[in-house]
Amino acid sequence: MISRNISMPLIGASFGLAMLAGCQVLPVSNDAHAAADEMTKPHWDYTGTHGADHWAELSDDFATCATGRLQSPFNIQADISANLPALGLNYQSVPMKIIHNGHTIQADQVGGGQLVVDGKAYNLLQFHFHTGSEYAIKGETYPLELHLVHASEAGELAVVGVMFKEGPANTELANIWANMPANEGENSVSGQTINVSNLLPASKKYYRFMGSLTTPPCSEGVNWHMMSEPITASAEQIAAFKAIFPMNARPLQDENNRLVVIGK
Ligand SMILES: [Zn+2]
Repeated sequence: MISRNISMPLIGASFGLAMLAGCQVLPVSNDAHAAADEMTKPHWDYTGTHGADHWAELSDDFATCATGRLQSPFNIQADISANLPALGLNYQSVPMKIIHNGHTIQADQVGGGQLVVDGKAYNLLQFHFHTGSEYAIKGETYPLELHLVHASEAGELAVVGVMFKEGPANTELANIWANMPANEGENSVSGQTINVSNLLPASKKYYRFMGSLTTPPCSEGVNWHMMSEPITASAEQIAAFKAIFPMNARPLQDENNRLVVIGK
């Protein structure tokens, strides 16, 4: 019997957002200084000589990609079920601002609401997509995966992951895709708004575990919440993303016997 007060392997890592200028957390910005910082970062990719197997070789800052013991993604096996606290998913509409950052399509969500879990609030910063899915759930992979990236006032990161399976088109995704920049560095700002509440499954059951950023520098201490129920995207919507990013998913990493809990 596992109580809801189950002790997660809290890493206690507290990030300054400045040091997390990796593509996972960099807010959309046209700022020249941010652009200059971006220029000095090592180029990385998903395949080839700068691919995922080589990230740690590209920069000392990326060492955790190889040495980390709580890396993401991995195959989620729901080995323990517990009465996990309900996620407070308190989101609101914000103006649509989308960037093609060379690795994914990312939407700026500053002001877009909060994730509240265990009484702690994490502000939504941005969301982005991967194809195929990065995580597997009980060995099953999906064509598309959404990451909602949040940070607490202290800089602790929390991500909510949502899988897409092929099915009916998602209307919020249609709005985003209609404004999806096709080339690296391009921004898209439309008069429309985005509300990530429209990108969540009906069931709020989730898997909880500690993991990492899935892009360099692969920083650990990230509080992960993977929704167990996928939502749907149409075959055309999935193909539209793959036309820009044929594959932008890190391969599965070792679970390393970490604690993974599924809500009841
Ligand atoms: Zn991601």
